[in-house]
Amino acid sequence: MESSQFVPLTTNHSDSPSVPMRELDTVWFQVGGTICNLRCHHCFISCSPENDKFRFLSFEKCAAYLEESKNLGVKEYYFTGGEPFAHPRICDILELTLRYGPATVLTNATLFRDATLDRLQEIERNSLYSLEIRVSLDGYSAGMNDPIRGEGTFDRAIAGTARLVQRGFLPILTITRTWEQDDEEVLAKFRQLLKEIGYDRPRLKILPTIQLGAQVQRGGAYGEEARVTHTMMKNFDPMNLVCSSARLVTDQGVWVCPILLDSPEARMGDTLMDAMREYPLRHAACYTCWRYGAICSNQATMTAPTDAR
Ligand code: SF4
Ligand code: SF4
Repeated sequence: MESSQFVPLTTNHSDSPSVPMRELDTVWFQVGGTICNLRCHHCFISCSPENDKFRFLSFEKCAAYLEESKNLGVKEYYFTGGEPFAHPRICDILELTLRYGPATVLTNATLFRDATLDRLQEIERNSLYSLEIRVSLDGYSAGMNDPIRGEGTFDRAIAGTARLVQRGFLPILTITRTWEQDDEEVLAKFRQLLKEIGYDRPRLKILPTIQLGAQVQRGGAYGEEARVTHTMMKNFDPMNLVCSSARLVTDQGVWVCPILLDSPEARMGDTLMDAMREYPLRHAACYTCWRYGAICSNQATMTAPTDAR
């Protein structure tokens, strides 16, 4: 599908509660822009080989933001896209980042070359900080995964995961919930699959779908009921939301979070310092965060709270 077919955005509520910026713990880099070798049908920012709405972040820009982040006390870094390993200088960027703090890269694990993996291993070994790799996979079989992520992607991602494991990485498998079965049943099948490739104690994280971008075509857009109200925030700890402690750096400035990349209102300025302020939870996608918590981070997905309005 072409990205122009996708409905880009969603409901945008006024009179919404705001989340204060507690302190900036985490910086995300949209290092791959919206450019990806895949075109998954649930991609909430409709990434594809043709979508260059956001371009690769240059090494120099990453370096400048890393330096700014150091002065703001940032503790860790995440790299996303698009596909970060499509970026020609991703290894240089990761090597530099690991001088500042721990890093996590989100990948579809289909573009690994031996030279890249060797370099990652070397970078990780020579760093005081950890390098985490998160692999996206949406099924424990080709039949379950490939209709969403594209033909042949299951085999390629599993091969990529096995090669990471062989080099001593412990990748976190992130799986978007697209099934009707019980979660435990699905997770057991994932564990079995990963055991077969030599990954005995795999780390798994289930993500909810986000009804934006390509996923709108697949599962429909958010309805009017998807909104965060002041009442809903009364007994809710805002620290469970990524936007209370993180910001996203893109080639076009700093955004509030990785989820709202397609929303121009989510741009907060040119620098991290510009973005150190509260943000109103006015987007329908904020409702998904409220239900499931820090869905972007490496932490486990939260159980949904009571739907009190
Ligand atoms: S979900 Fe990930 S792998 Fe799939 S198109 Fe989007 S960025 Fe690429
Ligand atoms: S989408 Fe989530 S992380 Fe982004 S502003 Fe809304 S609640 Fe915060």
